[in-house]
Amino acid sequence: MKKAVISLSIDDARTNVKNLIYEKLLPLKIPATLNVITGFIDKTKENKGYPCITKEELLNIYNTGIIEIANHSDGHTNDLEDIKLGHDKLCEWLNLDKKTKLGFASSGSNLKIDKANLMKKQLQELGVLYVRTEDSLKIAKPEELRKKYLLGDENAYIKLQKHAFKEIDDFAFSSLVLYKGVNDLRELKLLTDYAVKTGKNLTIMIHNLSKQGEEIYNDAWTFDFDVFSEYLYYIDNLRNRNEIEILTVADSLKKGNRV
Ligand SMILES: [Zn+2]
Repeated sequence: MKKAVISLSIDDARTNVKNLIYEKLLPLKIPATLNVITGFIDKTKENKGYPCITKEELLNIYNTGIIEIANHSDGHTNDLEDIKLGHDKLCEWLNLDKKTKLGFASSGSNLKIDKANLMKKQLQELGVLYVRTEDSLKIAKPEELRKKYLLGDENAYIKLQKHAFKEIDDFAFSSLVLYKGVNDLRELKLLTDYAVKTGKNLTIMIHNLSKQGEEIYNDAWTFDFDVFSEYLYYIDNLRNRNEIEILTVADSLKKGNRV
């Protein structure tokens, strides 16, 4: 039986990510992937959203050894030059050879799976190890599934989110997007339990995590910090029972499922 692999892929590296990493991921030894917009970090590009972490904070996070640093482009686009610039800056900052391949999280998930696969060679030449996106277009009749789920059919939810599961040899793959009002703890557990049952790899995309009362809490891309913490305890428990592995996205592609 294959063992399920859960991967957490965190976009944008806004300052609130430090709470998640230092209060939860490090103490629980839960690895994750941080997708960085280099131009927002060195302030060469205008960031109209919430502030991002500094370069020093990025290096400290990298040096914890449990966080994969991946590229989210230099200016939050999917332009090839921007992807390359983000890649090259990260290699320089992290003291990596320029030929090192790094993961790429598509900005706004606008680079979809089919297109990314068509561009695979070109992207690999720019140093892209994989493309993580969100792509649920291939699901037939999602509204019907949503209705069934709301009436209590849990399998309908799994079908609706099937795109969140990936194979180990995928180059481009989708993920579950986590934000308030769309996914809750029950749904996270449903997908995780399905991964356990089937030995699949599940990737969860996270933006902001914030506690009630904080300014960013009402942002459309925020998920509740305490609810997500509950989920972290849930997967930590499954890992302790040897039912899942929790790996960075890069590691999930390298060694996921090989039990
Ligand atoms: Zn983003």
